[in-house]
Amino acid sequence: MTSRTIRFIDLPAQQERIKDKIDAAMQRVLAHGAYILGPEVAELEAKLAAFCGAKHAIGCSNGTDAITLCLLAKGLKPGQAVFCPSFTFAATAEVVALLGGVPYFVDILEDTFNLDPASLKVAIAQAKRDGLPLAGVIAVDLFGQPADYEAIEPIAAAEGMWLLCDAAQGFGATYHDRTVGGIGEMTTTSFFPAKPLGAYGDGGAIFVEDDEMAAVLRSLLVHGQGADKYDNVRIGMTGRLDTLQAAILIEKLAIFADEIVARNRVAAAYDDGLSDVAIVPSVLGGCVSTWAQYTLRAPGRDRGAVLARLKDKGVPTAVYYPKPLHQQTAYRHFPVAGNGLPVSDRVAQDVFSLPMHAYLQPDDQGFIIEQVREALAA
Ligand SMILES: *Cc1c(COP(=O)(O)O)cnc(C)c1O
Repeated sequence: MTSRTIRFIDLPAQQERIKDKIDAAMQRVLAHGAYILGPEVAELEAKLAAFCGAKHAIGCSNGTDAITLCLLAKGLKPGQAVFCPSFTFAATAEVVALLGGVPYFVDILEDTFNLDPASLKVAIAQAKRDGLPLAGVIAVDLFGQPADYEAIEPIAAAEGMWLLCDAAQGFGATYHDRTVGGIGEMTTTSFFPAKPLGAYGDGGAIFVEDDEMAAVLRSLLVHGQGADKYDNVRIGMTGRLDTLQAAILIEKLAIFADEIVARNRVAAAYDDGLSDVAIVPSVLGGCVSTWAQYTLRAPGRDRGAVLARLKDKGVPTAVYYPKPLHQQTAYRHFPVAGNGLPVSDRVAQDVFSLPMHAYLQPDDQGFIIEQVREALAA
């Protein structure tokens, strides 16, 4: 057998495609020397806003700070409840707790891994009964698929709560006729290198419709500066996006739509090759995922053994996420909807993710599918 190297995410193949453009873009930044808030930041922001149809796109330091900045702009106060899924990356809930808020964990839908509107209603009723002040909802576009915003938006609105879309994994996905970033009053994303649209370091962005909120966010990401930069008008942070990362992202954004198409081709081939041996991910009708992860479920199998076997054959895998947040040490004491989150607990036991990127070659993918089938049959 010929040896092959299969990467979980193939950043070198992407770099090969646009290396000259990235090299030139980086050299331009070195030449003009405006490392902080240089012209590439505004250029990227305009291009991001156009890509998703948002009124304002604001570059920032990473996807976690993007959420923090939104919570600061919304004036989250200690003790206020913010509802969010438990089956997500820690950052979603972390920043709520960091600001003294109460992350209130909600269960997910078994087929999409996204926030369950019925569980959200249960959590809201409980919080009201317990006298917790309500602040907002953070929905997550897990694995690149938009949450069911048409179901979630009215639930948040009925309680006078804001809705934040944590699209760290879902920027560029589509939900009916809307593109993630242009859905809802505020959306955050991450340009962590492994995300569908990744920089060569940390980065993030916030998308908002409201002019006043955009102005507050721009102040917050530079220490709360006012019109006079030595008269700070609010408590803020160092939340800017680096010029160098913006320059790299401009080149990556130019091929992003094409990459989303390629990622969907890869997902469809996995579906075809694996739907009879595992539970393949399902995407809501009228939606297009960015496939931040292609996540299978194999209930009742020894996941550790399956993944060890795949590793032996040279097929990298990952488990997102082995433990929902409400089971983790730092988050265990926060409230959950109902008597627990059975779906989050269940899927955490049997999910695993396969190599997913726009440059996965059909022969390598065929090999992966064959190995997954063998590992599941063993
Ligand atoms: C990656 C991620 C974040 C955090 O993004 P960073 O840029 O790493 O800070 C937040 N939420 C979700 C759902 C993520 O996947």
